[in-house]
Amino acid sequence: MKVVSSREILKNKLFSVVDEVAKDPDGFEIKRSIVRHPGSAVMMAVDDKERILLVRQFRLPAEQELWELPAGRLDPGETPREAAERELREETGYSARDWKELATFWASPGYVDEKMTVFLASGLQEGEQEPMEDERIQIRWFPWTDVQNMVREGQILDAKTMIGFFTWFDRREHQASK
Ligand SMILES: [Mg+2]
Repeated sequence: MKVVSSREILKNKLFSVVDEVAKDPDGFEIKRSIVRHPGSAVMMAVDDKERILLVRQFRLPAEQELWELPAGRLDPGETPREAAERELREETGYSARDWKELATFWASPGYVDEKMTVFLASGLQEGEQEPMEDERIQIRWFPWTDVQNMVREGQILDAKTMIGFFTWFDRREHQASK
């Protein structure tokens, strides 16, 4: 498949929306309105007691407050890892000594090209939160078993948070079995 036409119909400071057409050599065609997004970094910050740092904020599309892993959009020219360090500092005040990539995934590939990369951040040091003007973020450390229960009981409904937790848990199990 090859994109044969692309027309921007909306652009804001977060993403753009384009009408695109893709065709293959047989003439099969796909037409979609899609969201073009720079991608995001997600931070699974885990301390020495295996507590996990979650943030809570009102999410307008969900029309409710959600517990989530801290995350943020890549700035122009930024790598996912650079965005992860910056966003962790801005949203939570923490900086981390050790970074490991846990997973990369498409957020919702039917309509948006947002790719998310989850990092495990450890060796943490506390600092000052620097939220954006339109962000009001509550932060809290949870024992990892609480996070597991919140996922089981449907108190965590955010996909990147579930993926971050499960990949971290899988890694933990794998290391314990060695
Ligand atoms: Mg954010």
